Amino acid sequence: MHPFRWTPAEGKRHATTDRRRLTGRYPVSEQIETLCGQLVEVAEPSELAWLWETCVSCNESAHLLVASGS
Ligand SMILES: [Zn+2]
Repeated sequence: MHPFRWTPAEGKRHATTDRRRLTGRYPVSEQIETLCGQLVEVAEPSELAWLWETCVSCNESAHLLVASGS
């Protein structure tokens, strides 16, 4: 398992390494720190929310994490 998860927040899909919640879902409205360095509020993980555009910065960071094998 990779040390980050994707979650819809504030209109995009962000990745986070917030370890408090690596299992299960993030509670809606919880503030999490994303790989792109923002504090965002977790959105309702509806079907539509999962179709939001991926945060480019989070995507790059996630690729680096996977490539580094951490
Ligand atoms: Zn992001």
